[in-house]
Amino acid sequence: MIIAIDGFSSTGKSTVAKRLAAALNFIYVDTGAMYRMVALVAIRQGWVQDGYLDEAALVHHLPKIALDFQRGAQGENMAMLNGEEVEAAIRTMEVNRIVSRVSSIPALRRQLVAQQQRMGRGHSLVMDGRDIGTVVFPDAELKIFMTADADIRAGRRLSELRAKGDASVSLEEVRSNLLQRDAADQARLDSPLLKADDARVLDNSHRSADEVFQVALDWAHEKQKA
Ligand code: C5P
Repeated sequence: MIIAIDGFSSTGKSTVAKRLAAALNFIYVDTGAMYRMVALVAIRQGWVQDGYLDEAALVHHLPKIALDFQRGAQGENMAMLNGEEVEAAIRTMEVNRIVSRVSSIPALRRQLVAQQQRMGRGHSLVMDGRDIGTVVFPDAELKIFMTADADIRAGRRLSELRAKGDASVSLEEVRSNLLQRDAADQARLDSPLLKADDARVLDNSHRSADEVFQVALDWAHEKQKA
């Protein structure tokens, strides 16, 4: 069984996806982390200057980038870039600023979509991203599209960044980054952020994490029985 969770940035997709995967004993795949790891490579290689990305250099380098996930000691999900654990390094504002530009590159999307589809072979999984229900798994048994009010999303994301020690970032910067990423993700030509026709909408603005999880779990149980 495949559960596809798509939606706007910081709507709580990964929180509900992780809990669903744990409750159902499915694999969890965070596809945003895969695009973030590639963005981190571009930054580290010096291919991002003043918001400009050297796309040709990055595309040429793609065969050398190996993306994977491992489970940490507490069962946490760890993004692995060429064998290095980069879970914290990919969640910075620096990566946030360039990731939607990186993720618009068709050659990169082809490579990552193929890898994501391979991950679903022979496994039940919960996968979250932007194009999972539309492109990666158009036949997913359950598709959820998450939304939430922009101010609420920005407030939650700011708290997360502060908790990780980034005190310099402002609410306004976080809010405008979220809206810019949403606009870029919706506008790109290759597999834009789009609600699949058969996706169920889950608005996370005024519900607790527990309530959102319960709604999603009920939907998953319904599909399992069908
Ligand atoms: O989900 P997260 O916010 O970590 O994703 C980071 C970025 O990766 C998104 O803003 C989007 O540009 C890109 N992305 C994508 N397709 C996916 C998952 C993420 O284009 N399936």
